[in-house]
Amino acid sequence: MESKIIIGTALNDHVRFYLGDTTKLVEDARKIHDCYPTSLAALGRVMSITACMGIRQKEEGESVTTTINGGGAIGTIMVSADNIGNVKGFVGDNHLYLKYNDSNKLAVGLVVGKEGYLKVLRNLKLKSEYVSQVALQSGEIGDDFAYYFSISEQVPSIVSVGVLVDVDYSCKAAGVLLIELLPGHNEEDILYLEDLSKKLEPISSVIEKEKDLKKYLNILFSDAKILEEKEVCYKCDCSKERFMANLLTLPKKDLLEVLSDEKIEIKCEFCEKNYVYDAKDIDVLMQYVKDR
Ligand SMILES: [Zn+2]
Repeated sequence: MESKIIIGTALNDHVRFYLGDTTKLVEDARKIHDCYPTSLAALGRVMSITACMGIRQKEEGESVTTTINGGGAIGTIMVSADNIGNVKGFVGDNHLYLKYNDSNKLAVGLVVGKEGYLKVLRNLKLKSEYVSQVALQSGEIGDDFAYYFSISEQVPSIVSVGVLVDVDYSCKAAGVLLIELLPGHNEEDILYLEDLSKKLEPISSVIEKEKDLKKYLNILFSDAKILEEKEVCYKCDCSKERFMANLLTLPKKDLLEVLSDEKIEIKCEFCEKNYVYDAKDIDVLMQYVKDR
């Protein structure tokens, strides 16, 4: 079953919610990158939230890229998502499996670290870009995005995101719940959300038990109104031509150095696909350099 995110409003249209079962999306990421549990939990959490941010973009072709680096063992986490539901991502170290001693939970905050940043780049129509960045709060991802939404976008939000990993390392359940306060909200709405956030079950356990997300929505809000349901899937848009075009953006000196080899190999970090450029390709690139 493809991953799906339900978008809607509640509390008299004073909040907007994104509720998603992202199990398949996260499992596809695991297969592509051969992720171990803690690396997968970190990547899966960032992918699930970024998927919501991608489909939140209004125009087709717009996308969101989130980058996290907290100085921890996992290195950089990067995820891109567009507004039609294509998501891709990677982490520096795919093979981390660490748990917190006291709770048996996957130690995401520990491997991400919190001495660093969460950066969000929004690629808007007409080639404009919007970048904002906040300091990491805990490295547990959910808190960090909640902080980003309230500080950078000035939208107080509840963020709940989680990944359950099975004994065979496959993704057992993954999900995301994002609730945003909309303009026009009142004190009552704030109190309702405060109370709700205290009672929330971990979203990955909800997804594991309840396959019908609409039933869960009715537990969250008595007046939930569904506006749209969107499929989200793992898809990389790389190509041999795209990497060639990227090469051409290198400074001439660096490019000439790259082209001095007989064969060039480039691996796509998002999908692990390998591209090989032979003598013929290098000739084509050389021609471009000469014409420049
Ligand atoms: Zn790729």
